[in-house]
Amino acid sequence: MAARSGTQYLDGLRAQQRSIWLGGTRVEDVTTHPGLASGARAIASLYDMQLEPSLKSEMTYTSPTTGDPVGLSFIIPKTIDDLVRRREMMLRWARATCGMMGRSPDFMNVSFAAWAAAAGYFARGRPEFGENMRRYYEHIRENDLVLTHALINLQRSRSSTGLYNLEDGTALRVMRETSAGVVVRGARVLATLGAYADEIAVYSPRLGLHSDGHSPFALSFAIPCATKGLRFLCRDSYDLGRSHFDHPLGSRFEEMDCIVFFDDVLVPWERVFLLGDVGLLNNLGPGTNYSAHSAHQGAVKNLAKCEFILGLALLMVETLGSGKAPQVEAMIGELMLHTTTTKALMRAAEADAKIDEWGVMCPDAVMVESTRNLFVTVYPRLVEILQLLGSSSFMIAPSEADMDGPLKADIDQYLATDGASARDRVKLFRLASDVAINAFGSRQVLYERFYAGDPLARARALAGIYAKGEAMERVRAFLAEEAE
Ligand SMILES: Cc1cc2nc3c(=O)[nH]c(=O)nc-3n(C[C@H](O)[C@H](O)[C@H](O)COP(=O)(O)OP(=O)(O)OC[C@H]3O[C@@H](n4cnc5c(N)ncnc54)[C@H](O)[C@@H]3O)c2cc1C
Repeated sequence: MAARSGTQYLDGLRAQQRSIWLGGTRVEDVTTHPGLASGARAIASLYDMQLEPSLKSEMTYTSPTTGDPVGLSFIIPKTIDDLVRRREMMLRWARATCGMMGRSPDFMNVSFAAWAAAAGYFARGRPEFGENMRRYYEHIRENDLVLTHALINLQRSRSSTGLYNLEDGTALRVMRETSAGVVVRGARVLATLGAYADEIAVYSPRLGLHSDGHSPFALSFAIPCATKGLRFLCRDSYDLGRSHFDHPLGSRFEEMDCIVFFDDVLVPWERVFLLGDVGLLNNLGPGTNYSAHSAHQGAVKNLAKCEFILGLALLMVETLGSGKAPQVEAMIGELMLHTTTTKALMRAAEADAKIDEWGVMCPDAVMVESTRNLFVTVYPRLVEILQLLGSSSFMIAPSEADMDGPLKADIDQYLATDGASARDRVKLFRLASDVAINAFGSRQVLYERFYAGDPLARARALAGIYAKGEAMERVRAFLAEEAE
C-alpha cells in the first residue's frame, strides 16, 4: 500500500477493535464519538493532503521497496535537501492544524526512520532486534500507519529515589518470556494521539537511576493498539461539541492524551527492539540520533505555532486599534523575535546538519534541541502576550447563538470597533480564547512545558550535548594572555 487517504486512515481505525475509554464508557468508534470524531477528521485531512494532485510531489517520495509514493516524513534523509524537503512537508501539516496537533504522525515517523537507519544499534542487543526494527519501519512506511507512544512510567512517589522511579506493580515491565514473545504489565503515560493511532511504540528516553546492567524495565517495542490486554484511558475531551465559530480550535484539533494500561500484553518477538539492556536504552538518544529528528519535527511545529500566534496578535491589535501604543508594539516585537529565533534555529540545524555514523543526514542537535528547550518558556510567554493584548476583549466574545439571538442589534452596534464589525471581532477573539484562556489552550501550554520531558531534564540533556571545549578554550587563552 502507498500513502493513505483520509478515508483509508479512518477505515483503518474502524477496523481495529481497540479498548479506548472516555468518561466511564468504552468508545466503540472514535470516528463518530462526539468528543473524538473531530480529531480523527483533522488527521484524516492531513492524509488527504498527501494525495492532493497539486501537493503529492511535495508530500510524498518514492518508496525504495515498492516504487509507490509514501509519506515524506518516513524518508531517511541523506542530504540537506532531503531535510529541507521533509521540513517543508511537515510545515504544511503543522500549518494545517495551526501547530496545535504536535503529535501529527510525522512525529513518530521521523524517529522510526532514524532507528531503521541505525538498526545496527539495536542489533547490538541481539542481532534479530536490528532486523525487527528495519522490518517494522518498512511496515509502517508502506502501510502509512499512525503511531502513538508512551515513554513515562507512572510513579507512586516522586520522593523516594528521585526522577524516574521504577516501582514494581506500577511501572511497565517484562513479566516473562515465552516462545511467542515477551509478556509485559504496568502503566505508561502519556499517549498523545492514543485514541487515533493504529500502533503504539514503547521505549524510554532513559532509565535515569537504574544502576543494574540488566532490567525488566528496559524495553522497546511496538504493537497494534488493538492488542489484547491493552487499554487506553482518555482525559476529558476539549471538543465540547460546539460550532467552529464558538470553539474554533477545540472543535477541530482535539489530539487527546491517554494513560495506557498493559494487562499481561504479549509482544511478539518480531516487534521487540530492545530487551533488558539498560546501557543500550540509556544511550538510545546519542546512539541513534533519533532525538534530533523528533526535535526537527518539534521545531517545525513551533514555527507554525509562532507564526499563527503572531498573525492572531496582529489581527487582535488591528481590531482593537491599539497597534501604536508603545507597550503593544513592544509585545508584537517580542512575538516577531520568537518567531524569527525559532525559524533561525530550525534552518541553522538544517544548514549545519552532518552525516552521522549511520549514514543519515542529521540536523544539528544543539540547534534543534534548543528550539525545544526555548519553547518550554517561550510558549507560555506567547500566550501571556495574547492575554495582555486582549484583556477584557476575551470576555466580550458572545457565542454564535447570541450573535444571532434577541440581542443581535445591541451586539452589532456596540461590539463593533473602528477596525472590525462586531461579528469579525467576536470570531477573532473566540479563536484567541482557544489559544489563550480556555481548557484547549491551557493544555497546549502544558504540552509545550512538558511534552519532551520536564524542564530540568531538558536543560540537562542540552548541556550534555553542547560542545563546551571551544568556549572554555577561548577563556583559557584569554587568561593565558593576562598572565604574560
Ligand atoms: C499534554 C502532554 C502531552 C504529552 N504527550 C506525551 C506522549 O505522547 N508520550 C509520552 O511518552 N509522554 C508524553 N508526555 C509526558 C511527558 O513526557 C512528561 O510529562 C514529562 O516527561 C514529565 O514527566 P511528568 O509529567 O511525570 O513530570 P514530573 O517528572 O513529575 O515533573 C514535574 C515537576 O516536578 C519536578 N520533579 C519531578 N520529580 C521530582 C523529584 N523527585 N524531586 C523534585 N522535583 C521533581 C520536575 O522537575 C518538574 O518540574 C506529555 C505530557 C503532557 C503534559
